[in-house]
Amino acid sequence: MPKEIILERMTWPQVGKAIEDGYDTAVFSCSATEQHGPHLPLFVDAEHGERMALEVARRLGKALVAPSIRVGCSEHHMTFPGTISIRAETLEALALDYCESLSRHGFKNICIIPSHGGNFAPIAGMLDRLREAVMPGTCVFAFTDLDGMMRAWRNAVQEESGLGNRVGGHADIAESSIMMVLHPELVDENIAEPGFTDPVTPEVLDRMFKVGLQNLTPNGVMGDPRGMSVPIGLRCIDTFAGMISDFFVGQIRKEKKDSC
Ligand SMILES: [Zn+2]
Repeated sequence: MPKEIILERMTWPQVGKAIEDGYDTAVFSCSATEQHGPHLPLFVDAEHGERMALEVARRLGKALVAPSIRVGCSEHHMTFPGTISIRAETLEALALDYCESLSRHGFKNICIIPSHGGNFAPIAGMLDRLREAVMPGTCVFAFTDLDGMMRAWRNAVQEESGLGNRVGGHADIAESSIMMVLHPELVDENIAEPGFTDPVTPEVLDRMFKVGLQNLTPNGVMGDPRGMSVPIGLRCIDTFAGMISDFFVGQIRKEKKDSC
């Protein structure tokens, strides 16, 4: 196994050799630069996505981590200062060029991980076009089950702490705990307060994307961050990475049979 599996940190001969040695899967995340309540920094999804891509690549084996797309579709957060949003067409143009480049170098499987709720639907919608854009023999996969991600977080937090009902999907106990693992110096636990705490149903998500998050929750939090901890964060990272890598393993196996 090469010592390094993060593409940006490798030299071109190292990448070439890795591909020759069968490292023919590339993983990258599509995240966001957006508000995460008063107690967390704007790069929560971006840093979480980077970590997820690395964890998933390690679990898949013979996989390299390609650069993340660190801005995403965040229109519903734009009333909060600092958020940067790109249009779904811009995200698609970026993802398309990423996938095409990777396929031209010989990657056979390209796995996309959205680490931001607003990217799930756009990525699901563009998947067929990404598949058409790559070289024959390359498959593009994306994890697009937002509800599944919420369920996984809820279960992980519940099993670790009994506080599963504090998961609301944004700057909540799960994301705050993950940041306690990744960047504890940037988490201001003392000012962490609940936001929208009703159950986050598909109807609520639909409303949130339509009217903007601030209409539902003035402080920008969906759920409740109180009770955050490093063990919860580690559990969320492990559970989510396991679920996504299992998903990709299943997809790759299935596509190998049908051949892309
Ligand atoms: Zn987030």
